[in-house]
Amino acid sequence: LTHSADLELDLPRIRSHFDFVRAGRTVTNNAASTQPPRGLLDLYRRLAPWYENVHRGQSSASRRTTELFESSYDTIAAWLNAPSRRCVATFRNTTEALNAVMYSLMTEFRDGDNVVTTMLEHNSNFVPWYALTHEILPRFGRRVECRTARFDPVTGRLDLDHLASLVDHRTKLITCTGASNFMGTKTDLAAVRRIARTSGSLFAVDGAQLLPTSAVDVQALDVDYLCFSFHKMLAPFGVGVLYAKEQLLTDSLPFLYGGDMIAEGQVAPDRVLYNRLPWKYTAGTPNILGVIVSAQALRFLLDLTGPSRYFETETPLPRHAIEQAMARIAHHTRTLTARALDALAEIEGLRVYGPPAAHDRTPLVAFNVAGVSPFTLAEGLNHHGVESRAGCHCATLAHRALALDPLASCRLSFYLYNTADDVDRATSALTRVLSRG
Ligand code: PMP
Repeated sequence: LTHSADLELDLPRIRSHFDFVRAGRTVTNNAASTQPPRGLLDLYRRLAPWYENVHRGQSSASRRTTELFESSYDTIAAWLNAPSRRCVATFRNTTEALNAVMYSLMTEFRDGDNVVTTMLEHNSNFVPWYALTHEILPRFGRRVECRTARFDPVTGRLDLDHLASLVDHRTKLITCTGASNFMGTKTDLAAVRRIARTSGSLFAVDGAQLLPTSAVDVQALDVDYLCFSFHKMLAPFGVGVLYAKEQLLTDSLPFLYGGDMIAEGQVAPDRVLYNRLPWKYTAGTPNILGVIVSAQALRFLLDLTGPSRYFETETPLPRHAIEQAMARIAHHTRTLTARALDALAEIEGLRVYGPPAAHDRTPLVAFNVAGVSPFTLAEGLNHHGVESRAGCHCATLAHRALALDPLASCRLSFYLYNTADDVDRATSALTRVLSRG
């Protein structure tokens, strides 16, 4: 993609798929969750003729639902360029997927081992490691450390030298976010992976803020674990993914135990055989419709950004189509972020966190205004019909690292359906909120 015309999105066409547009909402809180297009919500109802449980019935309906459910894993695997569906497990969200990583590694830690994470993490990629090292393993008499790498408070960049200095031959895992949901910085994942490979540690990525605007190729990235949530990339709530290298999933213990995660008939009082991958990680009745709709959300994303039709087809997903779609989304949302940064720079006393330029930023901007509570700002924005978020966005460590008091900021975040008008409405509403004092 060399010409920027190739990167343009057809905004009127995109926006025609979303009910929030008709409702007149200015949705600029997309880093929390994006809005679902009508076609995806309707899909739940269109699946009703085959509504049945999976792997649990001899009806044609059950067989059809099982096919749709299982092929959803192929779609997700293709999206990530994973070698097969056996590398893809689904959970409720990124948080649960990251917990699954923690539980699957729990038995691997010996006295004196450590895990390295960063101060940029969402709590979902810090608290599990804190709990493992400060609460769970100590109860088994094991002393294991959790180390946190610093970031540059001005640029928001992860301090790779500091991270490397925390890593040693006892580091079992390096885990970091692909993009910060507060500073907006993207992590140089190839550099972190190199540090992990040199030390022989595993490498996990929290992709919750990265996947919505990037085509992540798990084989090119050579990541051991990657987690993300579909509700940040058009799908309705309820489904998150854990990608992991097949050998890791084969070797580790399951996360949850019960029905369907065992091989058919292979349970005796003294012997249990687990199901083949990925069903070893699907204990109990899964979010069947959620998984089907979430995988279709990926196809919907392609349809929104290009001329071809993938939604509700079985057309294989070509790599170049995924890359082109994500390049367009990244380009568009970067333009909106640049516009927001320019307008915010005009507001007196306003401090934006993270990189000053939109380049290399994920499409969100968190800020504070001297002497004004970010909650007052966000409430004021809402009064003017602009949706934002105030708080620490679960990036508590990063707010603490900046010594913010209170530990809070106001955040605007954009997705493919946002317009320059949305940005202008948000920034002019902010000016109006502030001029009222
Ligand atoms: N990591 C990051 C970087 C996030 O932004 C989020 C969502 N705010 C999460 C993890 C957690 O995602 P979920 O709530 O879907 O578990």
